[in-house]
Order: sequence, then structure tokens, then C-alpha cells
Amino acid sequence: MGDEKTESTEDGGKAAPTPERAVSRRALLLGGAAVVGVGTLLVARDELGWRLPGGAKERKEGAVDARGAQWIAASSANWRRADRPDDYEIDRIVVHVVQGSYRTALKVFKDPGHGAAAHYVVRKDGHIAQMIRELDVAFHAGSRRMNERSVGIEHEGFVDRKESFTDAMYESSARLAAGICRRYDFPVDREHIIGHVEVEGTDHTDPGPHWDWDRYLRLVRRERDRPARPARTVTPA
Ligand SMILES: [Zn+2]
Repeated sequence: MGDEKTESTEDGGKAAPTPERAVSRRALLLGGAAVVGVGTLLVARDELGWRLPGGAKERKEGAVDARGAQWIAASSANWRRADRPDDYEIDRIVVHVVQGSYRTALKVFKDPGHGAAAHYVVRKDGHIAQMIRELDVAFHAGSRRMNERSVGIEHEGFVDRKESFTDAMYESSARLAAGICRRYDFPVDREHIIGHVEVEGTDHTDPGPHWDWDRYLRLVRRERDRPARPARTVTPA
């Protein structure tokens, strides 16, 4: 985008070639991704009522990216304004567990002193709060690079309590994750949908040993492959 002009003034005489090279490589990658993913992105943006063309995405008070989610704003100290996926490609979902209740998650994410928050919080009964727009970079993974490329989903409960993870929670979180994979056109697999524990350099253990990855991915795939109008009846096989 606008970056290209800056980069073509190539003499510069700057003594820091490494970061500059990194920037141009990212610009190239983003350019490629935009071409490949354009069909899907246009459909997704249209669904969301984003204004086209020019990538100017609407920011309306209370707007959510996931159908059915309730908007509850996190403190602006816990995220950074961005214009994803135009400035940063989104190709990861990071799964978290609160180590506390839904209420606790909302409270700390609204607290400017907390320094962290995720895009979404899923409650035991499947209710979803969206606290940060997917456009923006949430501070949830403890890694700048991972934050920039990912959407963070928190789940009410505790890593050492299997009963934290209810059927309603799995179903609802999977529907949310499937929507994210569709919007940004990345695969449903364990490379792209990871646990916080898998983020490089982290000391966090969530979602922990009781999180059923096979089940979750199966549900995400099922939701992704569902036709546009979701059926009301869910029949477990
Ligand atoms: Zn976490």
C-alpha cells in the first residue's frame, strides 16, 4: 500500500538494512496474500458491511465481527489500533483459558492496568463477548509477532478442570473460529489454530491437557463447511 512509495526512495543512506529488508519482505507477502485471498475477503467484508473499495473498514460503535457476539469493549490500553488484514495478515487463532470466570475475564480486560486482553471471551453456556475488533491487535499471546497475526479466543474456566469445557462452549467457540478461518482464508488445522502454550517463548500452559483438540477441530471444520444459512437442529452422530 502506501509503504511502497517510501521504500522506493532506496538510497536513504540508512545504516539499518535489516529492518528495512524485513519490511519489504512483509509487504511482498501481504501483496501475494491479497491476490490469492481476494474473493473470500470480498465476500467476508460484504457480509460485515465493510465499505469498499480502498479497504476502509467501518468502525461503528458496538459493531462486532462475529454474528451473535455481544460487544463489550476492552480498555484501549490492552490493544493496539491496526487495520488488519491490510497491514498484518491474519492466519492464526490462539486458544486461551481464563483461569477464572467469564466475569473475571471481562473485568480484567476492561482494566487499563492489566496490559492484556483477547478479542473474544466464550462463556460456559456458549455466549460470546467480543472485546476488541479483529481489525486491531490484541495483547493476548505475549508475543508481538503472534499478536499481530492472530485472533485470541478466551474460554471461561480452568486448565486443570475438565468440566470447565462444556459442549455449549466447544460448539460456540468452534462456530466463532470457523468464521475467522473463512474471513481470512486460512486452513483449519493445528498449525493455524494453536494453544497459548504453543506460542514461542511463552510460560503459559493454557488451554491445558483437558482441552479436546480433536473434537474442537472436528467442530470447526464442520462449521466451516456448513452452508451459509446454519441449520437449527444439531444431531450428534
Ligand atoms: Zn492464554
